[in-house]
Amino acid sequence: MNEKYEAIIGLEIHVQLATQSKMFCSCSNSGENKPVNTTVCPVCMGHPGTLPVPNREAIRMGIMIARALECRVPERSKFDRKSYFYPDLPKGYQISQFDEPIGLDGHLNVQLGEHIHRVGITRLHLEEDAAKLTHAAGRESSVVDFNRSGSPLAEIVTEPDMRSPEEAGAFLRELRLIVRYLGVSDGDMEKGHLRCDANISLRPKDKAALWPKTEIKNLNSFRSVERALVFEIERQEKLWDVGKPEDVSSTRGWDEASGMTVLQRTKEESADYRYFPEPDIPPLEFTNEYLREVEATTPELPAARRTRFTAEYALPKKDIEVLVQDKRLGDFVESVISELQAWVRANGKDWERERSTLTKQTVNLVINRFSKFLVDHSQTVDSSRVTAENMAEFVTIVASGSINNQAAQKVLALMFQTGKDPSQIVEEQGLAQMDDASALTEIVQHVLEAHPNVVEDVKAGKRQALMFLVGQVMTASKGKANPQVVQKILRDKLS
Ligand code: ZN
Ligand code: MN
Repeated sequence: MNEKYEAIIGLEIHVQLATQSKMFCSCSNSGENKPVNTTVCPVCMGHPGTLPVPNREAIRMGIMIARALECRVPERSKFDRKSYFYPDLPKGYQISQFDEPIGLDGHLNVQLGEHIHRVGITRLHLEEDAAKLTHAAGRESSVVDFNRSGSPLAEIVTEPDMRSPEEAGAFLRELRLIVRYLGVSDGDMEKGHLRCDANISLRPKDKAALWPKTEIKNLNSFRSVERALVFEIERQEKLWDVGKPEDVSSTRGWDEASGMTVLQRTKEESADYRYFPEPDIPPLEFTNEYLREVEATTPELPAARRTRFTAEYALPKKDIEVLVQDKRLGDFVESVISELQAWVRANGKDWERERSTLTKQTVNLVINRFSKFLVDHSQTVDSSRVTAENMAEFVTIVASGSINNQAAQKVLALMFQTGKDPSQIVEEQGLAQMDDASALTEIVQHVLEAHPNVVEDVKAGKRQALMFLVGQVMTASKGKANPQVVQKILRDKLS
């Protein structure tokens, strides 16, 4: 972007909470997979005379996210009615939270390259989702599916603390990781489980004031958030360049196909929503005991795992990030390492001495080999037949050098296919490494006799030729020979 200007970006994110039932009624919250208008009742259809009852689980999830974002959770919180008229909202108002939300004044640290950027969180509140309107092409009318109506949402509003599309993207990815760790949502943007509106304005770099912002809607992926912000920065730069920056707030829709934002409307003020306290729901009051209990059941968060893995395992940053991004894979590695620790101690050895080697070996086998099997066979850590216990045993077998690399690949493949333990596979397949020197010497002798020209090359100092001979011995031994022993015998014989 032009060096004269600075982009001011804030985000508003809706996270659909993965509760069993909806926000204010007992209807199933998995209506997106059901036939239209089947997970509905008079409450979420907005019939007159019905009474909303807040979902305890949704409140707990909201508090978990709020605390994960370092928000203060006030002792008291309440619901309000936000009035607007639209066919996706049968009551004519949405039950939301206005001036007493469940989370305030938080922040999230986002890593972008080597730089850590702190993004303030203004607030987090709970509300109900609207129904889904479909404007079918070539049809005069629109259709409404109320399955989504009344689903619980946590809305997160950030401070205008981001300065580039990449920062906004990094913030969203970290937020998605957090909701996944918390188990409160899969955070899938394509499915609408995480929805994001982006606010952006530009200003001259030497000014502190803020200019009217543009709100971008209809962002359905991380990529579209970043693309739309790049587009909007360019559009607003041109306005500044001709001395006519935006002088009124507006809402623009992102059009994925054309790669442009399109003006939808100039923005109503918040007073237009005529917020007032929801008379049918008493205010929520949280005791310290309750808040401590929620905190106690909150799992480790990505940032804490990053720090802990960095301290506990001497691993390259990129390996740690793989284990942080894929929580289940990270959990699996931890189980394998604790199995190894138990095994090392049971064998009367010192864990601290073995730790570094075995940890690296584990991470290497899991990230570089096991993960590939998972991807190739569209499986997950949970669906795969390889248990942490078997993986730990496999690591000890590989580390002890009792099978070679080639055999290791075969053993892992069979562990994956059969769920058997690796020592049994090594036994059944006769894969134990041959390092019996006399048996190997015999094979080496045959190979040397079969390739006199190559022997000449080796004597002339060609390293490639030596590796060719090693390969021939490996083949002759059906892959079981210990390559180090083979090299040593070859060198002895040829020197
Ligand atoms: Zn309902
Ligand atoms: Mn909202």
